[in-house]
Amino acid sequence: MNKYVEKVIAYVKEKYQDQPEFVQTVEEVYTSIAPVMDAHPEYEEADLLMRMAEPERIFRFRVTWMDDQGKVQTNVGYRCQFNGAIGPYKGGLRFRNNVNESVIKFLGFEQTFKNSLTGLPIGGAKGGSDFDPAGKSDAEIMRFCQSFMTALYRYIGPDIDVPAGDIGVGSREIGYLFGQYRRLKGNFENGVLTGKDLTFGGSLIRPEATGYGAVYYLQEVLKHEGDSIEGKKIAVSGYGNVSWGIMKKAAQLGAKVTYMSGSAGYIHDEAGIDTDEKLDFILDLRVKNSKDLKSYADRFGCEFYPKAKFWGVDDVDIYMPAATQNEVRIEEAEKIVRSGVKYYMEVSNMPTSSEAIAYLRENGVIVAPSKAVNAGGVGVSALEMSQNSERLEWTAEEVDQRLKTMMKDIYDKSLDAAQRYGLGYDLIAGANIAGFEKVAEAMMKQGIF
Ligand code: NDP
Repeated sequence: MNKYVEKVIAYVKEKYQDQPEFVQTVEEVYTSIAPVMDAHPEYEEADLLMRMAEPERIFRFRVTWMDDQGKVQTNVGYRCQFNGAIGPYKGGLRFRNNVNESVIKFLGFEQTFKNSLTGLPIGGAKGGSDFDPAGKSDAEIMRFCQSFMTALYRYIGPDIDVPAGDIGVGSREIGYLFGQYRRLKGNFENGVLTGKDLTFGGSLIRPEATGYGAVYYLQEVLKHEGDSIEGKKIAVSGYGNVSWGIMKKAAQLGAKVTYMSGSAGYIHDEAGIDTDEKLDFILDLRVKNSKDLKSYADRFGCEFYPKAKFWGVDDVDIYMPAATQNEVRIEEAEKIVRSGVKYYMEVSNMPTSSEAIAYLRENGVIVAPSKAVNAGGVGVSALEMSQNSERLEWTAEEVDQRLKTMMKDIYDKSLDAAQRYGLGYDLIAGANIAGFEKVAEAMMKQGIF
């Protein structure tokens, strides 16, 4: 492998030993782009990879709020503005108790290349807090969001940094965050956040966008294999925002999700999670953050398997991990290979360990990378920003059509990049290279800093 790439990976491994998720992402992306570094010695002269591995800035701040019992609670908040070379920083906020600096940095690093891949002018960022909304009242969530925004508002803005939702942050949280931003700034800059409610500048299809986009990308992969989505059965991990979008679009296109899971266990619904009633039930579960997945089985008469994971079931055609990071390690990958399932589409950020990816691919499973598959979410967020700045409201059909075109474009770009470097049908390397190229060129042209 390229010596400079090896040197930078070794440096990051040594320096950030305590940030395993971040190290894994850097290693994966930089290994993929090694052929680009061979072709561009000027990037090494500009020490581009070392610079790209260091966020432009990262904030860590105190978020203090009062719970319903009048007790003072303190959490840690983060915002990592990773790379702004091609546009204002853009990336979600995650509220979950396992959020730490490593998680925020890996997500911000990934976001930089993902945003570039959409073809839209947005830089990479991520933020969040170790606050867990599960079990909190609406009033507690509001007070937390207000305190979080009070600490953050000085550092964001429609042309500076535009946060959005992620795990634990949906339209309710975005509403409270925007309300506090507006109160503090005394203006109506609704382009500062995306994922807003439709009443104050949200975009139609934004809630569905990541899941819809993932299914559009899946269609391209199936087409490449001479296959089609009709009649396919899918196992999706998670039942949150992204998983719900996958279920909805799969149902529209004649496929069905028959498995879903959460941290408490998984559901097998052989009839398919494909009716409005079922989809609304899931939406409601997510909004309540109750973690009560079993109630779905009770309501719709199917099986709930407590404390279990579904990896290895063989009565599906496609696996789509869409919950969180580190879902599939080597043990789960072995089960997937034994199941004979051919398609593995990453949707959540970094759901698979490097060893598991290698094992799946060596055994003939087609693996698509989350960086590309889930990019429709941020893509539609950027469309929301355009609508806000031009005071426009596009129809659902218009946004959905743009999303579909964007996903095909991302797929084609990834394939083209892999082929240009003689890598064949390697969607992972292709996405990394295609995302990297634009950021690298922009940084080269903006001078050394
Ligand atoms: P949500 O908070 O809406 O849903 C997360 C889901 O994952 C829940 O069903 C939750 O179930 C489950 N989950 C979370 N942690 C664990 C865990 N440790 N073990 C098992 N299940 C878990 O998040 P999103 O749907 O928005 O995000 C899902 C993934 O997609 C994340 O990786 C996110 O970064 C990525 N993504 C999201 C985008 C978006 O537009 N929302 C855009 C691009 C990427 P439970 O609460 O019961 O544990």
